[in-house]
Amino acid sequence: MSEVEHYDIVVVGGGPVGLASAWHAARRGARVAVFEQFAFGNEQCGTSGAERHWRLQYTEPDLCQLTGEALPLWRELERAGGQQLLHAFGSLWFGDVDVATNEGKISATARTMDQLSIPYEWLTAADIERRYGFADLPRHFEGFVQPDGGAVDVRATVDGLLRLSESAGVVLRAGESVQELVPDGEGVRLRTPRGWCRAGKVVLANGPYVNRLLEPLGARLDLNVFEMALVTLRQRDPRARYPFWFVFQEPTEEDTNLFYGFPPNAWQDTDVVRVGPVFEVNPLDDPEQATGSPDPRHVSRVCDWVDRHLPVVDARPLARETCLAVLPADPERQFFLGTAKGLFDGGDNVVIATGGWGFKFVPLLGKVCADLCVDGATDYRVERLMLPDPTRP
Ligand SMILES: Cc1cc2nc3c(=O)[nH]c(=O)nc-3n(C[C@H](O)[C@H](O)[C@H](O)COP(=O)(O)OP(=O)(O)OC[C@H]3O[C@@H](n4cnc5c(N)ncnc54)[C@H](O)[C@@H]3O)c2cc1C
Repeated sequence: MSEVEHYDIVVVGGGPVGLASAWHAARRGARVAVFEQFAFGNEQCGTSGAERHWRLQYTEPDLCQLTGEALPLWRELERAGGQQLLHAFGSLWFGDVDVATNEGKISATARTMDQLSIPYEWLTAADIERRYGFADLPRHFEGFVQPDGGAVDVRATVDGLLRLSESAGVVLRAGESVQELVPDGEGVRLRTPRGWCRAGKVVLANGPYVNRLLEPLGARLDLNVFEMALVTLRQRDPRARYPFWFVFQEPTEEDTNLFYGFPPNAWQDTDVVRVGPVFEVNPLDDPEQATGSPDPRHVSRVCDWVDRHLPVVDARPLARETCLAVLPADPERQFFLGTAKGLFDGGDNVVIATGGWGFKFVPLLGKVCADLCVDGATDYRVERLMLPDPTRP
């Protein structure tokens, strides 16, 4: 690679957020390259498995509005890629309705849905057992099903974005890690094992690795990286259907006691289901400490819950994997999104998009990053999510 190689925008990280940023920017006429340290479509960082939860509901009204704004962008991506990506089979939240989690609170979320006229049905433990086949739920459990929620097809999203980026002229470079950034007033120089290149703007969509590039510049995002378990189980009756479910429970002394699961994928002919714990415990000091093997106690905890409460699923694991969750240390913050203005010299030429439960926002995050690179601003109402600007009082 020669020093003169120059792009309008270089995206660091070829996960879904990086690819969506590249696609949106290339459609606006920018010359864009994406550098991915592993293969495109790898499952070694924050994106793995077949599905992610799609939901409209949030405790915070602005985030509910943002999922509403993400929806037309998903529809646009589906049309452009010629494939359905969002599958609505309902989103069921139940448990202790006042437990506060980083997903939100059931009771407060119902109030927000009332305010915003988002439809849902309130259910008791008995309703949930009768309707969906759960068993032996504590009698005080309650919750709601929101019928427009469900799942996003992860692999079709990533494959589609890869194809669309390629046809929009994005230069896609797999197996090439960006090792250093040198921002200045005009743009950013980037070093990879193949040499240096230059970009007017850089998007850091490199998930759990973001601080590796920021720390040498004297900046650091306050985040934790957790290696979370994903467990594959077989459903005893392959025809049984129920919504995506998330159970909110009081934390135990050891963990956050939160579990979720998907029904068999609507888009695959399968009788397997995926369940997981959401335990924010034992953060990694560095993403390379990830082993790919989940903590056996976490696997047992989620399988025990399924064994006791979801008899349609055989709780003996068929597969155990992990995925890296990148969560802001501040529970009020959902993502890190925005320019690095004020974080270091030349920071206004660096846009950061990482962290959080962000798959449902992929096309929106991509569009916001492209807007910030091309226009320096975005019309999406993401102010509360933006990176703090240390130069502002
Ligand atoms: C267990 C689990 C469950 C989740 N469930 C949900 C859910 O139900 N709903 C939801 O909306 N979200 C969910 N999420 C979050 C969602 O999966 C992530 O927000 C999203 O997949 C992250 O995509 P990304 O493109 O930001 O990052 P990643 O997929 O992590 O991609 C980052 C890429 O950058 C590359 N990279 C890193 N450093 C460099 C470098 N220096 N040079 C070049 N390349 C580099 C990496 O190799 C990687 O491919 C979940 C996450 C986990 C872990």
